[in-house]
Amino acid sequence: MVDFSLTDEQKNLRELAHDFAAREIRPVAWELDRDSTWPQAIIDKAHEVGLMNTHLPEQYGGPGLDYLDGCIIEEELSWGCSGVQTSLGANGLASAPVMLGGSEDVKREFAEELVAEPKLASFCLTEPDAGSDVSGMRTRAVRKGDKYVINGSKCFITNGSYADWFVVYAKTDPEAGHRGISAFLVRRDDTVIVDKKEDKLGQRASNTATITFNETEVDARYLLGEENKGFKLAMMVLDRTRPGVAAMATGIARAAFEFACDYSKERVQFGVPIAMHQAIQFMIADMATKVHLSRLAAWNSAVLLDQGKRNTLESSHAKRFAADSAMEVTTDAVQVYGGYGFIKDYPVEKLMRDAKIMQLYEGTSQIQRLVIARETLLPRRIEEPATATA
Ligand SMILES: Cc1cc2nc3c(=O)[nH]c(=O)nc-3n(C[C@H](O)[C@H](O)[C@H](O)COP(=O)(O)OP(=O)(O)OC[C@H]3O[C@@H](n4cnc5c(N)ncnc54)[C@H](O)[C@@H]3O)c2cc1C
Repeated sequence: MVDFSLTDEQKNLRELAHDFAAREIRPVAWELDRDSTWPQAIIDKAHEVGLMNTHLPEQYGGPGLDYLDGCIIEEELSWGCSGVQTSLGANGLASAPVMLGGSEDVKREFAEELVAEPKLASFCLTEPDAGSDVSGMRTRAVRKGDKYVINGSKCFITNGSYADWFVVYAKTDPEAGHRGISAFLVRRDDTVIVDKKEDKLGQRASNTATITFNETEVDARYLLGEENKGFKLAMMVLDRTRPGVAAMATGIARAAFEFACDYSKERVQFGVPIAMHQAIQFMIADMATKVHLSRLAAWNSAVLLDQGKRNTLESSHAKRFAADSAMEVTTDAVQVYGGYGFIKDYPVEKLMRDAKIMQLYEGTSQIQRLVIARETLLPRRIEEPATATA
């Protein structure tokens, strides 16, 4: 059955997330952006009302929401401010490899801490010389008895300055390319050093940092999944998180679209509201279509996961389309505002800056196209259970 009508529970969830975004995030979003302020108060409140760690299973005290529920929440919170949502949602990115690859004890220890307090976890894959091509990573993990010792630096790590936990990808077999990567859950200690906080174009309320692991010792029980299977684990994670990024992009685009609609009805040029000019109407129409299709693609890729199906192709379709659409819609929103759109006193230039990251993190739009091309030219059956792309 194809049916995207929401259940009463999902509508309530959307209302909760929307009210939270309207009350707690929107009123301060432009101020947080201007000063690049860390939104700790919002994180504390979001944790309190249950809008964080949404996918942590009920058996560990989490809400156990499904992927479609997650998309509904992420669109609303990103409508409020996608920088804040990136800060709130990064726990989901770090939790996924723990829930997929951790032992029962490790999962429980990690999840129960995140549920009890507004603690943060970061996902540490990218390095200065290893972005789209993670096989070039230099971080090493060397087994010594019942421990691994990790050395290396990760860059662009969301929430890195504030995280209590890190999922760290490191080479355990340096000669084996992407087949020599393993994933570890690392608790912050004084061998984990924050080297640099980035000053960013957009999503300035989120924290992005360079993190160095200096002789960091990790008990072997914190190895996630099998040794040297970390790349496969990372790809499985991204299949699960890209629907949420697509939903975030939808939220940004929707915010820009709504501002543009309102402004086009108020701004008068040539004796009529600019909404009366067909050129503006067509821009608004294209924006509306892109928001609508971005949401459908995000939901479709999430529903496949909820049904236990592999969604690699669909999550790349959704992430690529929604990210590129968010960039187009926010750019058009600036166009609808004319010169005022370029001025910081008006809301849309922030959205255009925020949208840009959607085309970059969790796989650039070019990398999504590589996945789409591979999945299209060498298709695998959609009925297969969810597995990695590697
Ligand atoms: C704000 C922010 C937050 C982030 N958060 C995290 C995080 O929490 N954890 C984490 O691990 N990483 C994070 N990242 C890193 C992000 O995922 C990478 O920046 C991204 O994967 C791209 O890597 P790169 O920047 O090294 O670009 P590169 O890989 O160097 O790419 C440069 C350009 O080349 C293109 N390109 C590369 N290879 C190909 C190819 N084969 N074919 C066609 N085009 C190609 C890319 O699309 C891009 O346009 C974050 C980044 C930012 C900016």
